[in-house]
Amino acid sequence: MKPFGIVIHGGAGTVSKTKMTKWKAEAYKQALKRAYTVGFLTLQKGGSSLQAVKEAIIILEDCPLFNAGKGSVFTHAGSIEMDAALMDGKRMQAGAVAGVQQVKNPILLAERVLKKSRHVLISGAQALEYAREQGLEIEEQSYFEEEERLKQYQRALAKDNIGLDHDEEPEKYGTVGAVALDKKGNLAAATSTGGMVNKKYGRVGDSPLIGIGTYANNNSCAISCTGHGEFFIRSVVAHEVSARMLYKGESLEEASNYIIKDELVRLGGRGGLIGIDQAGNMVMPFNTKGMYRGFKNSNGEEFVGIFKG
Ligand code: ASP
Repeated sequence: MKPFGIVIHGGAGTVSKTKMTKWKAEAYKQALKRAYTVGFLTLQKGGSSLQAVKEAIIILEDCPLFNAGKGSVFTHAGSIEMDAALMDGKRMQAGAVAGVQQVKNPILLAERVLKKSRHVLISGAQALEYAREQGLEIEEQSYFEEEERLKQYQRALAKDNIGLDHDEEPEKYGTVGAVALDKKGNLAAATSTGGMVNKKYGRVGDSPLIGIGTYANNNSCAISCTGHGEFFIRSVVAHEVSARMLYKGESLEEASNYIIKDELVRLGGRGGLIGIDQAGNMVMPFNTKGMYRGFKNSNGEEFVGIFKG
């Protein structure tokens, strides 16, 4: 049997271990488990990796615990502006949205861009227009305004922090991502995020940028990143992993460990990524104290974790 499987993340940079209550950890784990299980069942039935990653992301976008869709963070101006991307490694097709407001599931808009538009990345008010045109679900801003996020926003405003909120560790970035390999050997990647709390001037992070926060290529790997986007953009992370595999002959593990644990650490960039290759090898490296993550594969292996080890 050909291998298949799905890996997901719910963001690098978690609340510190001491502040993580048992109940909260359990809630995160349940949500992650639900997301990869939905994706895995699709793969098991012979569905495409593109469909599986999209389905996993929708579960996480609808869950207020994560910084994507419903649980997205506030911008400096008090709005909620989301980024998302989806890439098909077989056809090398991609769709992405940046700075989009009110769209309940930005990943569905990214999918429309991929499948129905002649563009790869659309942004802002006109992207919302396109979502309306496509009949996607639109919500009032109040739908996204979670109380925890409001408090986080107020703390960030008071300290003039961007994306930083916690004493010891940049507050959970909380982006969500999924990568999958289907029975036909096709790879796909998806990422969705509210970006960084208190972000200014229409800031766009790495998540919707193809080859940076999101990338899939059947010849190498599928990658979804999470962390301090500015650093990931400058290191062109996702494509760099793929390029090291293709041109240097590194394994997925070697390439992604190098970028996350060596290069980004040297530059001061915090975060992690998830990846999968055509043999079904999976990786989840991160250089923060934790990363919400999980996977399930055709060998019957399954995992969900938050902290190191
Ligand atoms: N990478 C995202 C960004 O910079 C944040 C995250 O991963 O949570 O927008």
